[in-house]
Amino acid sequence: MKALVKAKPEEGLWMEHHPVPEIGPDDVLIRIHKTGICGTDIHIWNWDEWAAKTVPVPLITGHEFAGEIVELGKNVEGLTIGQRCSGEGHLIGKTSRQSRAGKFHLDPATRGIGVNEQGAFAEYLRLPAFNVVPLPDEISDDIGAILDPLGNAVHTALSFDLVGEDVLVTGAGPIGIMAAAVARHVGARHVVITDVNPDRLALAGRVADVRPVNVLEEELSDVIESFKMKQGFDVGLEMSGNQAALDQMVEALVMGGRIALLGIPPGKSPVDWSRIVFKAITIKGVYGREIFETWYKMIAMLQNGLDVSGVITHRFHVDDFREGFAAMKSGSSGKVVLDWG
Ligand code: NAD
Ligand code: ZN
Repeated sequence: MKALVKAKPEEGLWMEHHPVPEIGPDDVLIRIHKTGICGTDIHIWNWDEWAAKTVPVPLITGHEFAGEIVELGKNVEGLTIGQRCSGEGHLIGKTSRQSRAGKFHLDPATRGIGVNEQGAFAEYLRLPAFNVVPLPDEISDDIGAILDPLGNAVHTALSFDLVGEDVLVTGAGPIGIMAAAVARHVGARHVVITDVNPDRLALAGRVADVRPVNVLEEELSDVIESFKMKQGFDVGLEMSGNQAALDQMVEALVMGGRIALLGIPPGKSPVDWSRIVFKAITIKGVYGREIFETWYKMIAMLQNGLDVSGVITHRFHVDDFREGFAAMKSGSSGKVVLDWG
């Protein structure tokens, strides 16, 4: 089968032929239809410090996918050949305290497909049946291929009650834009999204009913005033990993405000803790998706009018993967989807 492989410990990915994976009794074999390129895949392409210490070589990359089941392990029940699906790319252990309590997404032994284990940028993927998420007919393969990052957005946005709240999203990358759309969908009052990249802000305005703010040109305090908010935002969703964005968020929040942090800073980043203490702010770190509650909620919202399709800005056949990665690396794209058909 064709597979997009980190074949050498240097910059790039290579299209190679690999054997179709053999499945175990509890696995399924999935024929891949579409895949999404993630920021993580760019780190792996670039072979930065994180990738070099994390990713074994050779490895089939990729973790955002939609496809169909073509083979079932002998113990697998409740799934069928030909069924369309996506799936959770975090492979978890079942013995930790967290897993045994049903908090699967907090299992410390989690391993990621396309990062630690063979991934989804291939014609076929082996996946534990446990990880499969069937796709209803009304969810397209394109959307199926971006459920992983949409799940990050949903997990973060649903961290706090947003009904009637004023919400600040920092970072209008694909995940920030989808989180803003989710905040709007679940009933937030004002939703403001910040960035420093005009292309990303324009995309945010097209995809979601939100107020884009370029923090290089506008002060958040003026935005707060223009919306006639009394003190500031009730909830912050940090989606940039940028130190300045987090500082601005803390400033722009009400007393007792709540922050969900998804963005990953590049290294240690200093925080003004006394400001957080005196504002009595609650901070929650967010990792991955809740398995499988986030999947359940996001599919239900997609069936109930949540539309994030505009966040996909580029589609390529996988033979043109270099163009797809170039679009992602430009920093101005939304999601880039590769077609394996
Ligand atoms: P992205 O890099 O595409 O988007 C980040 C955006 O932040 C960019 O558009 C950038 O211009 C913007 N930005 C930079 N400085 C800013 C500032 N001062 N104010 C506001 N915006 C600023 O990332 P993405 O793919 O959308 O992912 C969002 C973040 O979530 C990333 O940091 C990513 O590493 C992280 N992430 C975390 C998890 C997790 O499980 N915790 C999972 C996936 C992604
Ligand atoms: Zn991803």
